Order: sequence, then structure tokens, then C-alpha cells
Amino acid sequence: MAVFVYAENINGVYKKAAFEAVAYAKAIADKAGETVTAISVNPTDSSDLLYKYGASNVINIKDEGLKSFSAKAFAQAVSEVANGNIIVFPHTTDASSIAPMLAVMNGHSLITNALEVPESLSPFQVKRKSFSGKGFMHAKSEAAGVIITVSQNAFGVKENAVSGSEEVKNLSVANEDTKVISHEQSSGKLDLKEAEVVVSAGRGLKGPENWGMIEDLANVLGAATACSKPVSDIGWRPHTEHVGQTGKAISPNLYIAVGISGAIQHLAGVNSSKTIVVINSDPEAPFFKSADYGVVGDAFQIIPALTEKIKAIKG
Ligand SMILES: Cc1cc2nc3c(=O)[nH]c(=O)nc-3n(C[C@H](O)[C@H](O)[C@H](O)COP(=O)(O)OP(=O)(O)OC[C@H]3O[C@@H](n4cnc5c(N)ncnc54)[C@H](O)[C@@H]3O)c2cc1C
Repeated sequence: MAVFVYAENINGVYKKAAFEAVAYAKAIADKAGETVTAISVNPTDSSDLLYKYGASNVINIKDEGLKSFSAKAFAQAVSEVANGNIIVFPHTTDASSIAPMLAVMNGHSLITNALEVPESLSPFQVKRKSFSGKGFMHAKSEAAGVIITVSQNAFGVKENAVSGSEEVKNLSVANEDTKVISHEQSSGKLDLKEAEVVVSAGRGLKGPENWGMIEDLANVLGAATACSKPVSDIGWRPHTEHVGQTGKAISPNLYIAVGISGAIQHLAGVNSSKTIVVINSDPEAPFFKSADYGVVGDAFQIIPALTEKIKAIKG
């Protein structure tokens, strides 16, 4: 029986998290001696992109009613085509609201934020993130079927090309419960949750007029920008950039924190980043305890110099 995976797209374009989820599903399928079937709703991107990460079959759901997102309606659509015992989702905002709905509909168990390939498939057991990334847990499923969400950037976007085929399913799922009234687009050029590199700044920057140097550094690195909670609360930066316990949880390959003290609530949203660089004028700032690299000094001197150095290396 195939391992199913939900390949999330935004306006038809596959997210990086979708490729990671397909690669993760492929690793499970290899362990089980099965193949991967990817499911997507109204994609415009080519299915070739999913074959590249290991999906042998792609089911493209076409449904005009699903142009507007509703977890319940999307779960209903996925349940109509996914008839396997293992269904993988990326741990994105949308997918992690579809997954529990689907688990209830199917009577499957739900394991969120998986970090590694399952330790065993029967019973299904996998290591997952817990306590906002401060701990790990080995979760075991007692149900016949299991739905897993994969923690973003935990497994990696691993290529594993296979030859694939595509099937189009025309559905018309009732989608009456939720209507999108407005859609707030992040001001950054890159989606914060998808970004490989994030440059983030806090109250140490003194005011919104000083964010130019953060954006310059982000531009040379091809990074997204983020901020601490008080910075978005005072209106220096938009709320879409707020990371932490009450903001977005991110796990980029590189997180550069500038003028952020490293409060536990901030760390909760960023501590699963692969590499953390902290720039702070206070050598006692708590963030240094969680840093892979630390620079003690004045951000107003360090950031422009760092940007120039990177530009010179790149140029
Ligand atoms: C329930 C709850 C939920 C919360 N959720 C979140 C959350 O999701 N995200 C979040 O971020 N916070 C959250 N907070 C707030 C959190 O506790 C901290 O207050 C907040 O993270 C501090 O923001 P900051 O580091 O930008 O500011 P500060 O704590 O004021 O730190 C500023 C830092 O800048 C440094 N600095 C100053 N000048 C310079 C300079 N020139 N160069 C370099 N460094 C300099 C200082 O040494 C200091 O370490 C929450 C709090 C509560 C109670």
C-alpha cells in the first residue's frame, strides 16, 4: 500500500516544505518496500517537481470550491483520495490544521513535528519535537493508521528522483464553513517559514529607522527578516515577522539574531534552527547560551561591516 503525502502549494506553486515532506515519505516508503503517492489541491506547478523527491504517483485534485482554504474541506478532499495507512504532511500552518481533521475522519492516530525517519513501522514509532523544541519524545502509534507532520527543515529537501505518473481527480467538496475575507502578505520578499536564512532583530536596534542595515544584510544573504515580539508590538515591524512562542516557529539553516536578549519565549520559536549566530553588545545576554557563534559588540558597527564583507566575498 502506498505511503501518501500532502504536497502543499501556495497559489498553485509548491512550497519547499512540500518537497521535504515528499522526501520524508519516500524514506518511509523505502523502509516499507512501498511507493509514494503525493496529493495536491489545484496545483499549477508541474508534477515533475514531486517525482524529483520520490513521488511515483501524483494525484492532482481539481476543485474550484477549494480555491479558498478551509482545513475541514481540504481534509475531506484528501480523505477522498488517500486510502493508505500512512499519510505525511509538512508541519506548515495550513497542513498542521488539515492533519488533525483527517486523523479524526479516518480514525488514525496523529504524530506531529516528526524529526527523523520512523524507528519502526510496526508499531509506528518516531522521534518528535516536544516542549517547543526544548525536548524530544519517541511517540508510538497504537492505531492501524497514522498521520505524521514533519517538522520543517528537520529532514531536509533530499532529492531522490523516480519516474512518476499523474492522475487528475475532479472533486466538488462542500466548502461552506470558512471564507477568506482578506489575506495579509508578509512585507518581506521571502516567506519567513520557508527561508533557509533569517536575519532577525530586537529592541537593541533602538527604532524602526535602523532596520535598513538589517534589510541590507538580509538582501546580500538572500535571507528573510524577522523580529522579536516587542518590536512588532510597538509597531517597528509587521506582526508577520514576529517569531517565538506567540509568533511564528521557524527552523532555518541559519538564524542571525541581532540585538535580541534571548528570552525563553523568543527561543521557543527559533531554537530548532540549524545554526544560530548571536550579535549582542551585552556579553551576559542569555541568547549566547543557545548560540553556535556569538559576537559581542555594537550591532551598529558590526552589521554594516559584515554586509560589506559578504558583498566583497560574493563580488
Ligand atoms: C507570554 C509571553 C509570550 C511571549 N512571546 C514572545 C515571542 O513569541 N517572541 C519574542 O521575541 N518575545 C516574546 N515574549 C517577550 C520576551 O519575554 C522578551 O521580552 C522579548 O523577547 C525581548 O525582546 P528583545 O530581545 O527584542 O528586547 P530586550 O529584552 O530589550 O533585549 C534587547 C537586547 O539588545 C541588546 N542590545 C542593545 N543595544 C545593542 C547594540 N547596539 N548592539 C547589539 N545589541 C544591543 C541588549 O543587550 C539586549 O540583550 C513573550 C513574553 C511573554 C510573557
